[in-house]
Amino acid sequence: MRRLLVFAALFVAALGRKTFEGHQVLRIIPKDDVQLSLMKDLEDVIDFELDFWRGVTDVSVPVDVRVPFHNLRSVKMYLEAQNIEYSIMIKDLQAMVDEEQEEMKSAARATQPRNTDSFDYSSYHTLSEIYSFQDMLVAENPNLVSKIVIGQSYEGNPLNVLKFSTGGANRPAIWIDSGIHSREWITQASGVWFAKKIVTDYGTDPTLTAILNNMDIFLETVINPDGFYYTHTSNRMWRKTRKPNPGSSCIGVDLNRNWDAGFGGPGASSDPCSITYSGPSAHSESEVKSIVDFVKSHGNIKAFLSVHSYSQLLLYPYGYTRTPAKDQAELDSLAMKAVTDLASLHGTTYTYGSFFDALYEGSGTSIDWAYDQGIKYCYTFELRDTGHYGFILPANQILPTATETWLALMTIMDHVYKNPY
Ligand SMILES: [Zn+2]
Repeated sequence: MRRLLVFAALFVAALGRKTFEGHQVLRIIPKDDVQLSLMKDLEDVIDFELDFWRGVTDVSVPVDVRVPFHNLRSVKMYLEAQNIEYSIMIKDLQAMVDEEQEEMKSAARATQPRNTDSFDYSSYHTLSEIYSFQDMLVAENPNLVSKIVIGQSYEGNPLNVLKFSTGGANRPAIWIDSGIHSREWITQASGVWFAKKIVTDYGTDPTLTAILNNMDIFLETVINPDGFYYTHTSNRMWRKTRKPNPGSSCIGVDLNRNWDAGFGGPGASSDPCSITYSGPSAHSESEVKSIVDFVKSHGNIKAFLSVHSYSQLLLYPYGYTRTPAKDQAELDSLAMKAVTDLASLHGTTYTYGSFFDALYEGSGTSIDWAYDQGIKYCYTFELRDTGHYGFILPANQILPTATETWLALMTIMDHVYKNPY
């Protein structure tokens, strides 16, 4: 009987979860302006149900797109008819998702962590596991870490920010966030590791100790908890929030198009069904508004660092305009130093530049908003990889990714500390 119940539960879980059986991720490299504009047109063909993992940017820059099994033939025929070359980046997405699930299950079979030392940093975790990790870290380090709930998500999940502080009142601070796009699992996993790294290194690593003796660090590991929960329970490829859009059957807003920085401009969509839907108005989403209110009321944030995946990029403002940021020269040389330090660990190479030049025109993004608030050091990370596993980065890459990224974060934080403004 018990066996039967377990089987029934598994069956329900499997039924409730979106499958990606036979879905392929194609890599397409537009050769010239004609192909580029054909690719841009493709973004608007709703019938193909395409999911752009890497959007259309420029000639010679790869575009990665997930194609549902039932549309593969027609999409490939279309590309071939237009003479657009493609390669198959992922042959059967579901096989990779299954593998990821298996890994998580076997990791979960190990004893539940009783403290943050026995927490398994090398596997992916659910929302509730991350929440309990945060509580354990606070309980173990009451003099260094506290938890601030800055708001609630649409579904009522707490928006937790960990504050690392050695005292003082309203010290200059560094903001770090991850998980604004829920399917970018390597980012939440890295955020968890960063939190533990900060408490481990304080008092032993002279650079971090000096920073924390003078500044605070705020870390929001899961900006989009509803979406993150949904990637675990229903649809691994979900990017947006889970708030219904009035008048539409499509759910969710792209939280990184919802900020008051060129809101609603090119690179964001006003279509609620688009994965880059900006929302009805700037800061309409509680997940964004909570950060906006927090950063404004704090008033002394000196760096705003936002962690995404994938593509291996380090980007600084602007995304919504081609006009260079007034601190471009400094931001650029610091980015170069940060990616050099990152590469020193495992040889992982990053490209850097302004969001607009190195990625694409994107409006309503968090770092542009932060920069326009007068926060000079604003960066977006796009972590591993460059398009082999994409969003399904195997768990055995969590620690290498987090550790190398930490070197870049430290380079930036140390610069911020040594260059007060
Ligand atoms: Zn992202």
